[in-house]
Amino acid sequence: MKPANSTMAGLGTTVFEVMSALAREHNSVNLGQGFPDDKGPEEVRAAAADYLLNGHNQYPPMMGIPELRQAVAEHARRFQGLDVDWQNEVLVTSGATEALGDCLFGLIEPGDEVVLIEPLYDSYLPIVRRAGGIPKLVRLEPPTWRLPKEELAAAFGPKTKLILFNTPMNPCSKVFDREELSYIAELCLEHDVYAICDEVYEHIIFDDRRHISLMTLPGMRDRTVRIGSAGKSFSLTGWKVGYITAAPELMKPIARTHQFMTFTTPPNLQWGAATGLRLPDGYFATLAADMQRKRDRLANALSTIGFDVLPAHGTYFVTTDFRPLGFNGTDEEFCRHITVKAGVTAVPVSAFYQSPEAPRYFARFCFCKHDSTLDSAIQRLAAHFGH
Ligand code: PMP
Ligand code: GLN
Repeated sequence: MKPANSTMAGLGTTVFEVMSALAREHNSVNLGQGFPDDKGPEEVRAAAADYLLNGHNQYPPMMGIPELRQAVAEHARRFQGLDVDWQNEVLVTSGATEALGDCLFGLIEPGDEVVLIEPLYDSYLPIVRRAGGIPKLVRLEPPTWRLPKEELAAAFGPKTKLILFNTPMNPCSKVFDREELSYIAELCLEHDVYAICDEVYEHIIFDDRRHISLMTLPGMRDRTVRIGSAGKSFSLTGWKVGYITAAPELMKPIARTHQFMTFTTPPNLQWGAATGLRLPDGYFATLAADMQRKRDRLANALSTIGFDVLPAHGTYFVTTDFRPLGFNGTDEEFCRHITVKAGVTAVPVSAFYQSPEAPRYFARFCFCKHDSTLDSAIQRLAAHFGH
């Protein structure tokens, strides 16, 4: 048999699937893969259910149903002050994962350099490579995860096609501030580079921080691609409804990719997502406030148990250093150990790094769960580690 594609054939199974399978096997409290316990807003699910029963369940338009594209544009104006033409600048995808793939396959020409910021979400590198891109990685260092400006500038060059990054950032819960974003924008302008911004956690942000879309910075409107996800904004991760906003010239090759990847996304879920994006400001404020409370509940307890808990400014996750507990193995060993022995699952943060020199002493815990789920995980960890 001839070999399959070497980039894809050489990959392991994603850490989220591996850890969730292990959690099921050991009946552990799964704080690994990031998905909420909450059912999501009733009106959003009711809208999707009603559309499923009474709506048009045939192929929607390739770009997405008009109601959702309009809602994405209205939402961008409401929260970012962006003026978006819903007909030419918004594309609906089957999750942010598809959106990322469409953008990378649509924009990268083999041999192009792509700047990425480590730690990074695990789908980025394989797709960049499969598209023929050459990754240029810049690493953030704990505990502040500040952007290292000189290293970032050195990663840009004449062959750089684009930068791809995520804010608020999974797994390290960093939120890029305006100064950091301005620096990235300057580099993009200086080197004529596109930016793909994974903004799926735009509403999961804490402590009075504000999410800033790179697209709103001077000069960046037409060279930035912004990606959102209904899964994250409405606690419906199984829905896999994403949306891309980009200037028409950038959107063209992205939409051409989308038309041959999935072509479209279930219409009732698009309808539900449109209902969600039109929810009043209070919904989004409550979502963030609830998550912040959950962050505090889990972070404080983990700290009492003896973890060194790093600050978390956004996302569903808190990063913890487990060395103070006296565990001497790697992060993978630690996450397996607590799954099997304590009945709680986390995700090893080294899965978000390419290089073997990645830190191997961080475990990522997900806090987007009912208080009772968090408390049960906390009790199990406390019992195991002797507190
Ligand atoms: N980007 C990041 C940073 C994520 O954490 C996730 C996880 N869900 C995604 C993209 C993918 O989102 P979706 O489920 O909408 O495909
Ligand atoms: N984004 C989720 C996380 O980081 C997982 C998504 C997935 O499993 N594909 O946990």
